[in-house]
Amino acid sequence: MGGVPAFDRKKSLVKENVLLIGDAGRLVDSLSGAGISNALLSGKIAGEVTSQFIKEGGSSFSTLKRYEDRLLKEKGSELRFYSYSRAIFLKLTDEDMDAAVCFLKDYFDDRIVTGIEPIALIKTILKSNRRLLRLLKHLVW
Ligand SMILES: Cc1cc2nc3c(=O)[nH]c(=O)nc-3n(C[C@H](O)[C@H](O)[C@H](O)COP(=O)(O)OP(=O)(O)OC[C@H]3O[C@@H](n4cnc5c(N)ncnc54)[C@H](O)[C@@H]3O)c2cc1C
Repeated sequence: MGGVPAFDRKKSLVKENVLLIGDAGRLVDSLSGAGISNALLSGKIAGEVTSQFIKEGGSSFSTLKRYEDRLLKEKGSELRFYSYSRAIFLKLTDEDMDAAVCFLKDYFDDRIVTGIEPIALIKTILKSNRRLLRLLKHLVW
C-alpha cells in the first residue's frame, strides 16, 4: 500500500525552469490512483519541450510553459473528470453505493465484457439513480 497524489487543476506544472511530471505534478487519475501512463506521457512531453527550449537558446523560461499547455490539452479534461468523480464518490452514502452496485449487476449480467470505458461507465451509473443523478451537477465544469 501507499499514498498517491490527487490531481489539482489549480496547481501549476511549470515554474521558471522547473517542470513537474508524473506524481510530482499530481498527474494521477484521482478516482483509481492510476498514474503510470500519465507519468510516462508527461515525461515525454517535458523532454520534448525542454529539448526545444535548449535548441532555442534556453533564455526564455516562458517557452517551457508549452509543456503544461500540451499536456493539459491532451489530458486535462480526463484528469478533471476523474477529480470531480472522486469528489462525488466521497459524497456517496452506503445506500448510493448499494444502488450503484445493483446497477452494475444489471448492466453487466449476461454480457461478455471485453473492455470498460471508465468515463462512459461513471456517467451511466450516475444517470441510473435519481439521487446519483443529482450528484451529476458536480461534473459540470
Ligand atoms: C500501492 C500503489 C499502487 C499503484 N498501482 C497503480 C496501478 O495499478 N496503475 C497505475 O497506473 N498506477 C499505479 N500507482 C501509481 C503509480 O505508481 C504512480 O503514479 C507512478 O509510479 C508515478 O511515477 P513517477 O515517475 O511520477 O514517480 P515515482 O514512480 O514515485 O518515481 C519517483 C522516483 O524518484 C525517486 N526520488 C525521490 N526523491 C528523490 C531524490 N531526492 N533524489 C533522487 N531520486 C529521488 C524515488 O525513489 C522514485 O524512484 C500505484 C501507486 C501505489 C502507491
